[in-house]
Amino acid sequence: MMSAANPTLVLFRHDLRLGDNLALVAAAGRGGPVIPVFVFDEESPGVRPIGGARRWWLHHSLTALSADLAKRGSRLIVRRGVMADVAKALARETGAAAVFWNRRYDPAGRNADAATKTALLAAGLAAESFDGFLLHEPWRLLTGGGTPFKVFTPFWRALQASGPPRDPVDAPTTLPAPVCWPDSLAVDDLGLTPRRPDWSTGLAETWIPGEAAANDRLELFLAEILDGYAERRDRPDIDATSRLSPHLAHGEISPRRIRHAAMNVKASGRDRDKFLAELAWREFSWHLLFHRPDLPVANCNPAFDAFAWVEDREGFRAWRKGKTGYPMVDAGMRQLWSTGWMHNRVRMVAASFLVKHLLTDWRKGEAWFWDTLVDADMASNAASWQWVAGSGADAAPWFRIFNPVLQGEKFDKDGDYVRANLPELADEPGPSVHRAANAKRGLYPAAIIGHDFARARALAALETMRLAKG
Ligand SMILES: Cc1cc2nc3c(=O)[nH]c(=O)nc-3n(C[C@H](O)[C@H](O)[C@H](O)COP(=O)(O)OP(=O)(O)OC[C@H]3O[C@@H](n4cnc5c(N)ncnc54)[C@H](O)[C@@H]3O)c2cc1C
Repeated sequence: MMSAANPTLVLFRHDLRLGDNLALVAAAGRGGPVIPVFVFDEESPGVRPIGGARRWWLHHSLTALSADLAKRGSRLIVRRGVMADVAKALARETGAAAVFWNRRYDPAGRNADAATKTALLAAGLAAESFDGFLLHEPWRLLTGGGTPFKVFTPFWRALQASGPPRDPVDAPTTLPAPVCWPDSLAVDDLGLTPRRPDWSTGLAETWIPGEAAANDRLELFLAEILDGYAERRDRPDIDATSRLSPHLAHGEISPRRIRHAAMNVKASGRDRDKFLAELAWREFSWHLLFHRPDLPVANCNPAFDAFAWVEDREGFRAWRKGKTGYPMVDAGMRQLWSTGWMHNRVRMVAASFLVKHLLTDWRKGEAWFWDTLVDADMASNAASWQWVAGSGADAAPWFRIFNPVLQGEKFDKDGDYVRANLPELADEPGPSVHRAANAKRGLYPAAIIGHDFARARALAALETMRLAKG
């Protein structure tokens, strides 16, 4: 006979936290033992394996979660395999009566969770899912015409008009342990950290994964950085944004916790609104992906299917290595490689350079970011790449082609960001560093393509696409 005294399994995925975790709270509320589980699932159909930088983060995040659970007399059971199979087998092994989880919204995750629910219900178990990755469910808002939003501003207006999300909930005070714990892999057994070569030194110097660090960063951001955010957020040379993106990607902190804290701190309306609008871009991206599961692979604007992308292997390599001869682009790509993160303004400049100067298909850039970003997020990454490329739902127009030198001079006025990331230009003084490509020949590459030439070529390619469309 199953009863509330039977254990409840809680599946952790993109919610590696104890606070504001509805699935965990509900499991604790059932009264019986709670068994926290992480299934490393790269086998369910359609799963896109996470990239190297996220694997590194995941290792440390799981380690932190295990330690946080241990402090409460609990444990994280780690398994590997197909979510539905592992959940069912573990439930049988432990005599669990129920399996709870917080919902995922990526296409493969949704399918895997649906399969898990079917398998559990067929076995006579309770299976229940909760929300917690977004402020609101991605299907909640539709236009007046009943269709998904394609443009951010009306989405944001509708989001603001739709009422606040629920308040975050605290972590359960107790997590009763089962009489006998099931076997578990060690986090190390998942082999998530790089060994030969170990490229993770810069990541380890930059980040502390885990819920406690996420909360600390939020506190610091609200106390010292939010003031002036609207004006300073575009400057890569200073610490002027929240840097919460990798914590959000792994669910170490919930967007509701962030929003709630931002609403309850003393701040100027302008700074708070700008910050909340950025969080809303994340919501918008997930709304897009929910309604267009092919967002990471297919142009939202089908006219771009006729675009004549160029196979420029040398150019793509120079871009990845941060050796294009454009200091702002190169500084961004080196920051990405060494820390797993890049400032938003520089992401736009670097992405634009790949797509418009080199005419390289945005999907190649998306895949490189997917592999190297610690905050790689299926929806935000794909939506942002399509936005930059001009193929997206609400995209920057193709004819707006960033001049990387002018972007550098505008947003990295004194050149500090470039010098911090390009050691070969470290002694180039002041803003002249943005035009240093030719002066430093030998040490630093000359520009791999001239801006005026690239601009004219990109506009001609767009015209050809337009003509092909008829
Ligand atoms: C080409 C390209 C690729 C990108 N890929 C990703 C990605 O894989 N993962 C990712 O989280 N963001 C991505 N972004 C969006 C943005 O650059 C990052 O969210 C931001 O730089 C994270 O830094 P932060 O936490 O300090 O941001 P803050 O300025 O502090 O913003 C707060 C939060 O709002 C969200 N946010 C901010 N800007 C955006 C945006 N434009 N789109 C969606 N959400 C946003 C993030 O969750 C962020 O943590 C990409 C942008 C570009 C141009």
